Amino acid sequence: MPDLSRPNAPKIIAVANQKGGVGKTTTTINLAAAMAEAGKKVLVVDLDPQGNASTGLGIEVDDREFTTYDLILGDVALTSVVTPTATPGLAIVPATVDLSSADIELISNEKRSFLLHDALRQPEMDIYALDYILIDCPPSLNLLTVNAMIAADSVLVPLQSEFFALEGLSQLMLTIREVRQSGNKDLRIEGIVLTMYDTRNNLSLQVEQDARDNLGELVFATRIPRNVRVSEAPSFAMPVLTYDTASKGAQAYRALAQEVLTKNMKTAA
Ligand code: ADP
Ligand code: MG
Repeated sequence: MPDLSRPNAPKIIAVANQKGGVGKTTTTINLAAAMAEAGKKVLVVDLDPQGNASTGLGIEVDDREFTTYDLILGDVALTSVVTPTATPGLAIVPATVDLSSADIELISNEKRSFLLHDALRQPEMDIYALDYILIDCPPSLNLLTVNAMIAADSVLVPLQSEFFALEGLSQLMLTIREVRQSGNKDLRIEGIVLTMYDTRNNLSLQVEQDARDNLGELVFATRIPRNVRVSEAPSFAMPVLTYDTASKGAQAYRALAQEVLTKNMKTAA
């Protein structure tokens, strides 16, 4: 539900899957870059203590003075944590390993599940005139991920085309249901995107078939192909859209961005 008191509030999407290595960070970085390329103002919130999204968007560890930890638990100005990236229109709140202690510190905090929610809705956020906030979640269903889901309007789920991919989804869906009951009743599923897709691999085809049979409309039409340029880009500290703008991976993320933008145009109308 849009917040009627703040008609221009950004849409907040949590990119989540409790499995590691399924393409959460890659999807966050490149979907955000593709949205920015399409003219949107986008903020990535790195909510994984591994800080891969921060590295992938070119923020070196030494330059991460204030981080997501400060955003949710600290008392620093928003302008100190929102860091511009080399991609026009795309900023990031970076993360470092100190975020792993936040998970524990949160337990003793009364507002523990709502800290990110509140941080992203502070009035100072309006100066950035954001259209989208994408949250890169850690590979677990811990308190950080719950914070993301409480803060978010929707969850976008990367699904790697491999065995047992769908089994993991039922646990994620359960968590989404619990979050709906406990503090964010309007949480939606933005969609499920097949990642590291290989048309020559029967397993990819099988996973796609199962996903479309079981989840129907929730599965994005766009599939993200396995593409070496996508995996190389982070070591050059840039999105694949910049690293190799004509690559299959870059094109796929542009198509995914168009799907998300179109979907949200419809719901806004
Ligand atoms: P997660 O954030 O879910 O742990 P990552 O986005 O870090 O997953 O991806 C895991 C690994 O797979 C990384 O090494 C990444 O570069 C690689 N990878 C992700 N998507 C692709 C892709 N479309 N093609 C090739 N490699 C990919
Ligand atoms: Mg990751």
